[in-house]
Amino acid sequence: PKNLWVLGDGQLGAMLSHAGQPLGINVRPVDIMTPSDAQLPLEADDIITAEREQWPESQLSLQLSQHPHFINGPVFGRLADRFTQKSLLDELAVATSPWQLVDDNTSTEALHKAYGERVLLKRRTGGYDGKGQHWLKQAESTTIPADWRNEAIAEQAINFDEEVSIVGVRTQDGRCLFYPLTLNLHQDGILMASIAPLSRLAPLQAEAEDMLSKVMHGLEYVGVMAMECFRVGEHLMVNELAPRVHNSGHWTQAGCHINQFELHLRALCNLPLHQPQVNFQCVMVNLIGVDKDDRWLSLPNAELFWYNKEVRVGRKVGHLNLSVHNNPMLTDSINQLKTWMPQQYQAPLDWILAEFA
Ligand code: ATP
Ligand code: MG
Ligand code: MG
Repeated sequence: PKNLWVLGDGQLGAMLSHAGQPLGINVRPVDIMTPSDAQLPLEADDIITAEREQWPESQLSLQLSQHPHFINGPVFGRLADRFTQKSLLDELAVATSPWQLVDDNTSTEALHKAYGERVLLKRRTGGYDGKGQHWLKQAESTTIPADWRNEAIAEQAINFDEEVSIVGVRTQDGRCLFYPLTLNLHQDGILMASIAPLSRLAPLQAEAEDMLSKVMHGLEYVGVMAMECFRVGEHLMVNELAPRVHNSGHWTQAGCHINQFELHLRALCNLPLHQPQVNFQCVMVNLIGVDKDDRWLSLPNAELFWYNKEVRVGRKVGHLNLSVHNNPMLTDSINQLKTWMPQQYQAPLDWILAEFA
């Protein structure tokens, strides 16, 4: 293609462009949020992807989404709505937390009877970083917000041991390849840090690959998809799917010979594609609501990705990839970060140290 267009121009689009550069693929993220009368110079053999699952209808977004090479077009809407996403998982018999639609007749009594003391309501669309969630707690007699009826699903609270995710790719001829499982730490619904690969997660790899294969084949998907899971004992349950490159795959930028962004581009452009080799174990630390600090660059094993966004509380503004050449170097870097980072980072950084103790 002459151009590979990305619906959306956030950090994922920017990192796709970055990955396209050495391949000579002209990746062009499009800001579809600012109203514009401009016509994009789309050509017949151009390729279109998206860095988000949902977008407002506008001249620009229509131009992109109606192009015959808008890859995975019907998938975005289907996964953007938790009702259709969870229905798909049930149809494919992929394990996920028990759930139901919250409709006009749903009562908290019935939900607690079905799922227990704690029930999580999630808005069907638009939620990210834990936004659009509402806990029902029987002991506190919490109620269903009126305007959430028909707009939310209710899920059983899962008492998981930890959270993991897997990023995989499906080619146009239906081959699936995967990165090793990633261990994730979320705090207040937002991803704080990831570690991959981990030998202790290897026994779960086949199950994760099988689950994500079912989903990608079921959707006839092409490109990179991410699957967030809960580990409950020896097994996995899907939390949610993302039809795109994913924050929990950012470690592959430092850790693998083909990172998730390049892998997505190769699949979309039908280029040769093979199993990504892991060069290093990596730790990814999300930079959330913190100002840029050049001291990060003094860490010998760190790579900084700064998104150049306005810093706001709770907003992802960058990430650090730390490669694990040896445990002392990793531990030193994390201990340094602990002295530079604010209070809310102490627990996530300790969580990383514990994994390497
Ligand atoms: P993302 O930014 O990953 O898209 P999101 O806003 O779409 O997040 P989820 O991933 O559904 O939301 O949930 C956010 C976090 O809330 C999960 O990573 C997990 O920690 C917790 N969580 C979600 N569902 C459940 C559940 N059924 N039981 C227990 N905890 C849950
Ligand atoms: Mg989500
Ligand atoms: Mg999530």
